[in-house]
Amino acid sequence: MILDTQLPKQFRDVIDDQVATYARGRAISTTNHIPDTTEIPIENQRHWLKIPDVVCVFVDMLGSTLLGATTHDKSTAGAFQLFTGSAVRLFSEFESPYIDVRGDGAFALFDSDQPHRALAAAVTFKTFAELEFTPRVRADTGVQVGCHIGIDQKTVLVRKVGFKRYRGRSDRQNEVWAGKPVSMAAKLAAMTKNGELLTSDRYYNNLTADRARFSCDCGGRRSLLWAEVDVSGDSNFDFDTSYRLGSCWCRIHGAEYCESVLAAD
Ligand SMILES: [Zn+2]
Repeated sequence: MILDTQLPKQFRDVIDDQVATYARGRAISTTNHIPDTTEIPIENQRHWLKIPDVVCVFVDMLGSTLLGATTHDKSTAGAFQLFTGSAVRLFSEFESPYIDVRGDGAFALFDSDQPHRALAAAVTFKTFAELEFTPRVRADTGVQVGCHIGIDQKTVLVRKVGFKRYRGRSDRQNEVWAGKPVSMAAKLAAMTKNGELLTSDRYYNNLTADRARFSCDCGGRRSLLWAEVDVSGDSNFDFDTSYRLGSCWCRIHGAEYCESVLAAD
């Protein structure tokens, strides 16, 4: 309880109003697909949507803290544009129903029946980061940037929080995704080294296509692309096993593999 003498009335009123909304409880409706952003509720503050088994692909820039806005402003601006701009455009091209920029990274959501599409998008971004982003920015700035990626899949709750209109503008609102996938995918990304992709077992187990799991024979023979990683000792995660992918699209077979992974959902 905040006292009258503790905070000016105008701010106490905001907090009281929010607490009253909280006390009224929530109404949750379930939908099986990620809705258009315009369909995500904002009017009724108690209304949330629940979407089962959403896949989140989180891409995060490595080394961004070494890029300064003071001394190398143009190269820093260029690096952020190349990284997040490409993430948004590529995820869009893979028809992700929801994309957002988060700090120095971005995430894309995919429906529960699109695990292979999510993988194709992630590996495509990984390939871009390794072959274009990292070498170009390193050559221009001398900074060792990079990329790491996390993927998780679980139920989310979503609604818009903020003002529908504020002083004639509609930009003081954003979607809030509550639940595991976005934060777990971000934490999985944070655990990896440059050029790695780490997924939870509950997402990995939905990758049934042969080409999502096994390599082409360019390395001499076909082999499992993924390595099991024990995360049972890490309290950040609500699962015990994750899977790590180091490779990106093969120079000879990548396009063909990308198409067939996409066709697998
Ligand atoms: Zn190959």
